Amino acid sequence: MNSFPNLLSIQEEHSWQYLLSHTIDDPQELLKHLDLPSSLLEGAKQGNALFSLKVPLPFVEKMEKGNPDDPLLRQVLPLAVENSEVEGFITDPLAEMAANHSDGLIHKYKGRVLLILSGACAVNCRYCFRRHFPYQENRLGSEQWQKILDYLNADSSINEVIFSGGDPLATSDARLQKMISDLEQIPHLQRLRIHTRLPVVIPQRITDEFVSLLNNCRFDTVMVLHANHAKELDSSIQDAVSRLKAAHVTILNQAVLLKGINDNVSSLKALSESLFSHGILPYYLFTLDPVKGAAHFDIPDQMAIQLHSELQSQLPGYLLPKLAREIPGKPSKTLLF
Ligand code: SF4
Repeated sequence: MNSFPNLLSIQEEHSWQYLLSHTIDDPQELLKHLDLPSSLLEGAKQGNALFSLKVPLPFVEKMEKGNPDDPLLRQVLPLAVENSEVEGFITDPLAEMAANHSDGLIHKYKGRVLLILSGACAVNCRYCFRRHFPYQENRLGSEQWQKILDYLNADSSINEVIFSGGDPLATSDARLQKMISDLEQIPHLQRLRIHTRLPVVIPQRITDEFVSLLNNCRFDTVMVLHANHAKELDSSIQDAVSRLKAAHVTILNQAVLLKGINDNVSSLKALSESLFSHGILPYYLFTLDPVKGAAHFDIPDQMAIQLHSELQSQLPGYLLPKLAREIPGKPSKTLLF
């Protein structure tokens, strides 16, 4: 692993809010930090024009200097190929607009709803299925929030709320506290699930205040992290996970199968084993959602199934994530294996 003394000192000195507001969003700066050739710049600028680069310093610090194929870099570096039109790759691959029943609320599956708490992420992942999502139209002001509470109050079949985004942890602990308190007033809600990548890319996000907030809420809480490669995990995430687990939060991980990043058995095996050693259970391994601009990450289903089958032969069952894809209109995720 490389050392970036200047970056490390920034991490030690600053809060998660500072790290979140001082991400690298200039391709030239990222290439310079990583000692990468300037020949990559033109393509990065072309991809950047479609979906901007954004990567926090703690995540950059985990990348290997001088390696353009670093699996963490590949997840965030814009490329010219993102401009290619590929049949079947569209802006709303999961047809979420059809399930967008109220601003900030997506109700796709029975018993649970997803709330878009924040349009912001700490990192812009090039393969993100929401890279074209109209976050501006889904801002959660007080009026929209009241509509969501009314929607949830009116449907007693809903017992789980999922905080999503963007990244829901890009929002402040005070705002989360208010939202959770409001949700606690709805008697039929039992579980709170938080889908977030922030603790992986800025582990400092798991503050004592946040842990105490979850510890004191009446819900059974689940946090679903998102890491795609073992290199994303280190002792700082382990510390965050330990504190969350002490607050009775169940911690799972979902990953996306990505060409050139984790599309081999040894990477997937290392990811599962590393997750477990950091206190996290592998949950889903998703195939790529066909989002416009990300076709170069795609792996045919047959190859995904083959990889998963080999993975199964090398891991105990509890370390094997479920291989799945989301098909719009289906009542649940579709297992491929
Ligand atoms: S929503 Fe998740 S996958 Fe998409 S850019 Fe944000 S952190 Fe990455």
